[in-house]
Amino acid sequence: MELLKLENLSVHFQVRKGLFKTTPSKAVDGVSLSMNKGETLAVVGESGSGKTTLGRASLRLLKLTSGRIFFDGVDVTDLKDKELQRLRKRAQAIFQDPYSSINPFMSIREVLMEPLAIHKAAEGKEAEERVYKALADVKLTPEEEFAAKYPHMLSGGQRQRVGIARALILNPDYVVADEPVSMVDASSRAEILHLMRSLQQKYGITFLYITHDIASAKFFSDRIAVMYLGRIVELGSPNDVVKDPLHPYTQALIQAVPEPDPANRLHERKVIPGEPPTPTNIPKGCRFHPRCPSFMKSKCDVIDPSLAEVKPGHYVSCHLY
Ligand code: SF4
Repeated sequence: MELLKLENLSVHFQVRKGLFKTTPSKAVDGVSLSMNKGETLAVVGESGSGKTTLGRASLRLLKLTSGRIFFDGVDVTDLKDKELQRLRKRAQAIFQDPYSSINPFMSIREVLMEPLAIHKAAEGKEAEERVYKALADVKLTPEEEFAAKYPHMLSGGQRQRVGIARALILNPDYVVADEPVSMVDASSRAEILHLMRSLQQKYGITFLYITHDIASAKFFSDRIAVMYLGRIVELGSPNDVVKDPLHPYTQALIQAVPEPDPANRLHERKVIPGEPPTPTNIPKGCRFHPRCPSFMKSKCDVIDPSLAEVKPGHYVSCHLY
């Protein structure tokens, strides 16, 4: 059953160019996507691909330029105030930076109590119990001891566990995890990904996992969407996308990972030939054509390919198929 549907979503910004000029940046440009309840979808791409903007837009944290968002069958695109607050309770985020996303002056107990208070979800003894349960879920035990600590007393990995506990304490249906392990030390990354995967399965949460690392996407997700310059260029199961990639950009992403074992090679630096994408300068025709080894003159630089299903559940946007 479908939980989230994005229909032709676009988020364009004006970015400053020089002192007086601005130029449009098409961070997300006509993306349609749906997610079933309990599914984990990984969105993969280089920086500038629009994956973070897509995740934030799906939470209604950004103003849309166009398109619609449906959550549990309800159009939430234009929700305001109380109704939007209700959506926020059901849709949470885990951020990349565990250092800046937690208030350093609050104890872990206060950090976890805050969303319960904001959403009037629990108070008093019940709130305290939910804090301890959330800490036990993310394996920060003994719970009472961790609840009394302050963020500076925790390691980066432990802080990110607090970030996960804070996102899950409201029992959300949908969670966006934006590069949740990229700023955590290498030794804790696989452990934290395993923890998130097991909590996602335990509570049947619908997860949007945003990453630049296709190896961890394969390990963590049910489906993978590869984004390039604001568009999805390939979508399918990890087997389809990682084992049988069709889009030349996906193939380049995979070739850039020397060892696809997430425990060993998470977030290894990838080098893909050609200029990295800039959403302020989108080429005509296929957006990938200036970097594509299979580029066909007078076709790829003229006609913008659309995302088409080439076999059941496997979609690609490329003139080769
Ligand atoms: Fe390459 Fe052409 Fe396919 Fe674009 S449409 S990915 S340029 S082959």
